[in-house]
Amino acid sequence: MSAPPPYPGNEKGMPPPNPAYPQQAPGYAPQYGAQYGQQATTVVVAQPAYTVVQHFRESPVRIKCQFCQADIVTSTYYETGTLTWVACFVIAIVGCWIGCCLIPFCMDACKDVVHQCPNCNQQVGRYNRM
Ligand SMILES: [Zn+2]
Repeated sequence: MSAPPPYPGNEKGMPPPNPAYPQQAPGYAPQYGAQYGQQATTVVVAQPAYTVVQHFRESPVRIKCQFCQADIVTSTYYETGTLTWVACFVIAIVGCWIGCCLIPFCMDACKDVVHQCPNCNQQVGRYNRM
């Protein structure tokens, strides 16, 4: 009994038809699903009922000051913020080199709004336009 001669196709390095290739892809899906599932289930937050996230905008808002605990209406003023510098930068790139890029510093619409407690003069919030 002699060994059967090898197939000429295999000797040349031709890969045999392999049906196992398409089985790689579905292996990733359950892992990602498990990770997201863990994150979703572990987030259990017990917050006090009175915690309200105050969104500071341009206009003064009525809040309870976190420093002096007084019920106040914030006083606002404008301060140079991120958007001011971005606008300045954009104008400079567009081509208005002299003076025009300083326009955002004169426009309240490009500045951040700082909310201050009139009672204790502490900064209680800030409206960042970016
Ligand atoms: Zn205060």
